[in-house]
Parts: sequence; C-alpha cells; structure tokens
Amino acid sequence: MRKKINKYDIALILVIIAVSVLVLIYGSMNTVEKGKKIAYVYSDNRLVGEYTLTEGYKKEFKVEGGSGHNTVHIEDGKIWIQEATCPDKICLHQGKISKDGELIVCLPNKLMITIEDNEEKEDELDVIVK
Ligand SMILES: [Zn+2]
Repeated sequence: MRKKINKYDIALILVIIAVSVLVLIYGSMNTVEKGKKIAYVYSDNRLVGEYTLTEGYKKEFKVEGGSGHNTVHIEDGKIWIQEATCPDKICLHQGKISKDGELIVCLPNKLMITIEDNEEKEDELDVIVK
C-alpha cells in the first residue's frame, strides 16, 4: 500500500520543521544563558576581579596579597591557580573549578576565588520568595 503525500501532509511537515527549528534556536539561546558563570576574585577580602567564564576565553593574571602572589589562569570555562608563592600550595591542589558554588582559597596569600552562576542565583531567589 502506498500512501500519496498530499498538500496537507506537506503543510504538516513544514510546520513540524518550523517548530523544531524554533525549539533548537530557543534551546541554544537558553544554554548560553545558563552557561554564564562568573568567577569572583578576592584579595584580602576585597573584590579585585570579575571574569565571565566562557568556552574559548583565556586569561592569566597575577594577584598580589598576603606575603606573596598567586598566578590565576582562566581557560575554557575553568579557573585555577597556575602558580603560587604560598608555603602550603593548598590552592594549587584545589585544581580547576568551573561549577557554581565552587571555590579556591589560599590562606597565606589571602586569596579567594568563587564561581557564581547567574541562572542558579535566580532560582535561589525564587525559593526565598516562596
Ligand atoms: Zn596557596
């Protein structure tokens, strides 16, 4: 049995394609928004830098504080301590962070890095309101 494709079928197919394209566009826009993570760099309890972590973004900088300095590296949505003068090197061992709420602390150099996700923050606010 062969079914002939009529104009209603074609119209239906076109509608399905249009809807799925719209869903794809909407979905990818949403992903970009959700992926917007900001790394806050504090030195001696003062905010010294704010960096949006996105794929392809690369930066390396030195933060002076305490008895020395830390070299902070940002690459492909992750942030970590590349090099540090502190004696314990705990901050180096904390590795790469990329998720909301994660943090790196270097006590000797009074450095702290935290990550916050815009999207999740709004969710938290919703919960508080309820
Ligand atoms: Zn350290």
